[in-house]
Amino acid sequence: MVEKRSFEIARETLKQLTARKLVPTPANYQSVYNEIAGIPSVQPFPADFLRDLSQSLPLKTPGQQKQKGLLDYAIDRLSWDGVKAALVGYGAFAPVVGSDAGTSPLASSLSANAEQPSSNPPALTAEFFAQIARLIEYAQPALGTDDERFVEQTGFLLQAMRKPDADAYTLKTMLVNYSHRLSFAAEDQAEIRKGLLKLLHLIFTNIGELSLDEQWLKGQMDALMSVSTPPLSLRRMDELERLLTDVIFKQKDAKYKWLEAQDEMRRMLAAFIERLAQMTQSTGTFQSKLEESARLIEQARSIADIAPVLKEVVGTTRNMAQESQLSREQLGAMQERAKQTEVELAKLHKELDRVSLQARHDALTGALNRKGLDEALNREISTMRRNESVLSVALLDIDNFKKLNDTLGHATGDVALTHLAGVAKECMRPQDTLARYGGEEFVILLPDTPLDKGIEAMTRLQRELTKRFFLAGTEKVLITFSAGVAQVAAEEEPADAIRRADQAMYLAKRAGKNRVLGA
Ligand code: GH3
Ligand code: MG
Ligand code: MG
Repeated sequence: MVEKRSFEIARETLKQLTARKLVPTPANYQSVYNEIAGIPSVQPFPADFLRDLSQSLPLKTPGQQKQKGLLDYAIDRLSWDGVKAALVGYGAFAPVVGSDAGTSPLASSLSANAEQPSSNPPALTAEFFAQIARLIEYAQPALGTDDERFVEQTGFLLQAMRKPDADAYTLKTMLVNYSHRLSFAAEDQAEIRKGLLKLLHLIFTNIGELSLDEQWLKGQMDALMSVSTPPLSLRRMDELERLLTDVIFKQKDAKYKWLEAQDEMRRMLAAFIERLAQMTQSTGTFQSKLEESARLIEQARSIADIAPVLKEVVGTTRNMAQESQLSREQLGAMQERAKQTEVELAKLHKELDRVSLQARHDALTGALNRKGLDEALNREISTMRRNESVLSVALLDIDNFKKLNDTLGHATGDVALTHLAGVAKECMRPQDTLARYGGEEFVILLPDTPLDKGIEAMTRLQRELTKRFFLAGTEKVLITFSAGVAQVAAEEEPADAIRRADQAMYLAKRAGKNRVLGA
């Protein structure tokens, strides 16, 4: 029955082909047959045709390559759905050509390369690359020029990024390679910096140890050590540079005088030795003359024989006495001059110490001294006015310091001052400045800090100090301070701001010490 029906369908199919004037190809026959038999019309899968199409697809981006892979896979599996999805996906990665007359090749190729269809305006993309180029250029000095190949690669990349017809895919590959090399260059620079600092410290330590007796030199070495310890700050380096230039200049003068004095001493010593040698020689001649005279006297038979010998003895003795007198006088004068030179040397030594102290750092604590503070304060106030920012100054005074000196000794008092300076430096930001204002009083300059933040900073330091003791022998010593903080007013004189901070500090003392008050 089924066969019969198939036969009828076939006959009807031929009839319809004729009636519809269709070319009797197998495909047309199949189509009409299916229609009459009520079979859904399934087109044969055009695998060869699709493969041909897949081969001819342009593959410019990884996205397109991926979609072609999916297309080939779908063709192998005769999957229409797969083919459809792969082609739609491919379309999404297709370059936007001619859609915008002003589109640069760089912009269109970038959007073609985006993993997602790009919604960024093309001009923004070109600007984006220009910005990266600028960023690389700015970072270049920090990376040094030791690695020639890296410098060359940077040059190529910058050139490529600034080409108007640059291809984004190529740029992306170049950027990937560049980042890789950059990471090595940055690591190298960090290592070089660490190494140089280590070397610098080594040099400072050695010089410091070689000149243990030279207090003035030691002070400078300590300051150098502190400045070359990270975190490095340009401000601190600048301060130290000026300190050293100043000290070197003054020392040169003092040292020259010192060397002259030493030369004079050497000359006098040489003259002294020569004189001594002459004396010994004269004494030797005198001795032999006396011996000769004694022999002549022994052999003499009469007074008349003795008379010339005696005359000779008297003459020799007189000469000897005169020479001795001369030598004594000369030696005395020399001794006097030697004493003077010694005094001169001591004076020069003191002068060197004074010059060092006169510099901008306090030798005991390494903080700025009054002179350094004046300069730093003027500088900070100028910056504050130029930038229209704020500046606070804090003045702190150790509580009951006299008692500490009296009970534990002056040396322990000195340790307490160094301890306070050390803790303060650790707690402060690199841009803050610590100065020793007087015996046990310190000033801290806090740039970009309004009054309330300044009070907070001082309170933080106070808390830190109550956590950290130092040792006096085996005894643990804790110190506290009282502080006043003033925010420098726009037109205020530096000295006035410090005076206000000092008044606030005084009120803090009156209120029971170990506290911070704002002015
Ligand atoms: P207050 O709590 O009110 O501040 O009292 P105080 O004892 O801290 O203050 P006072 O001004 O009475 O004493 C300060 C002492 O600091 C007196 C001085 O001998 C001592 N001093 C100043 N400079 C130095 C120094 O460089 N080393 C040492 N060890 N002591 C110093
Ligand atoms: Mg005081
Ligand atoms: Mg005090």
